[in-house]
Amino acid sequence: MSDHKLTTRTIIGLEIHVQLATRSKMFCDCAVEFAAAPNSRVCPVCLGLPGALPVMNRQAVRMAVTAGLALNCKIASFTKWDRKNYYYPDLPKNYQISQYDLPLGRDGYFDIQVHGNARRVGIIRAHLEEDAGKNIHDRPGCTLVDLNRTGTPLLEIVTGPDLRSAEEACTFAVELQRLVTYLGVSEGVMQKGQMRFEPNVNVAITSGGLEYRTPISEIKNLNSFKALRRAVEYESHRQVRDWLADRAYLQGQRPNENRGWNDEGGVTRLQRTKEEVHDYRYFPEPDLVPVELAPAEVAEIRAALPELPLARRARFVSELRLSAKDAETIVADRATADLFEQAVAAGGPAGVLGKQFVNVWAKLANERGVRIYELPPDAERIGALATLVDDGVVSATAANQIAEKMLDSPDSPKSLAEAMGLVRVSDSSQIDEWVDQVLAANERAVQTILTDPKKAQAGEGFLRGQVMRLSGGKADPRLAGELIARRIEEIKSSAG
Ligand code: ZN
Ligand code: MN
Repeated sequence: MSDHKLTTRTIIGLEIHVQLATRSKMFCDCAVEFAAAPNSRVCPVCLGLPGALPVMNRQAVRMAVTAGLALNCKIASFTKWDRKNYYYPDLPKNYQISQYDLPLGRDGYFDIQVHGNARRVGIIRAHLEEDAGKNIHDRPGCTLVDLNRTGTPLLEIVTGPDLRSAEEACTFAVELQRLVTYLGVSEGVMQKGQMRFEPNVNVAITSGGLEYRTPISEIKNLNSFKALRRAVEYESHRQVRDWLADRAYLQGQRPNENRGWNDEGGVTRLQRTKEEVHDYRYFPEPDLVPVELAPAEVAEIRAALPELPLARRARFVSELRLSAKDAETIVADRATADLFEQAVAAGGPAGVLGKQFVNVWAKLANERGVRIYELPPDAERIGALATLVDDGVVSATAANQIAEKMLDSPDSPKSLAEAMGLVRVSDSSQIDEWVDQVLAANERAVQTILTDPKKAQAGEGFLRGQVMRLSGGKADPRLAGELIARRIEEIKSSAG
């Protein structure tokens, strides 16, 4: 900033609400369903009617344990439910059922990679709670309340203040989304509000040999990676600016703040200072029995954990010899990574398959708005196409066309290649004919090769390209190169 001796370090912790992918709500049988008719997925329990009794959804607990284990948390063998009391129109009971002093998971960590460097982020706690409803402010003069969402199971994950930049925070969020979808505990669809981020941000400023810390802002309810990145970036700069304008803008001297993100303006705005923050008066929920988790049940859930994305990526690099970038792209989606491994198991060469997944199949899937595993060809045929390229039967370019055809045809890649006339020509008399035509049509290039040794190699490469073009990509490029070199030698010796 303006002071030339000033250095800054941004300190970020994240609170994330992840919606669990259960069929029904946390404490009643109502369906969890996005965009259903307002107030059509409600019952006395989630409406908070007097006398209605909640019953715990065991599947939500098991999903939370799954996520907790994957986040390396200690899983509590005994936990309970607590009421978090506050009054708001979208909260019909006037309290939220949550977990206060005994979270289901605590003291874990999650490893991420930022620019190839490993970063370990502490997980302070992961607890279960229910969601509130939704206030809708789209009509003038009134607010509508939709309670379909009340009681939806949420896993709240709180990280340590271990993230150092908007980029790191964003990478963490992306990896967490990948993790929960891999585990199948959440669909992680941001557009449906299934993951919401609340970063806590402040800045350590070093100036004149002293360190100053700005008050912590909690930015509420961000529902996209982009908003998370922009809000953290804005906030880290805003705090340094405010400290430069008022050197008493410091933790301890000024209150911590809750701030809202304004996406259009690209700014955060003060909502309230923490001095005004509610006392939620937590107390144990009397209507629910505590949750006991037998060690055997936790062990069973642990044994069922799939290989996690980071480990799988590393294995794809070390075992299957994929590039780090290709491995990351393929592993990003679990079902697609499964398909890839099945194609390798079916005999497909991993290297060619890696390239084809990233360059060919990903493109075809994108064009159709689906993931690779949702495309029609099965692992068997996908592997067979890669084998055709690996064996030199078709060129990589020809494989693109065959792949596209495979979407509509159940035929084998081999018979498609034959039907489409894409099988590579390794017959030297056929290639000789093409070489003849190319040499005749490119006399200047031939002259350059004969007279300028420095340009000979590039010249032959050019001629080979012309042969490939003339053959429609079917000529065996190595053979074409050999035949061109041989012909040039012949011309040289007959001229000399
Ligand atoms: Zn209900
Ligand atoms: Mn919460």
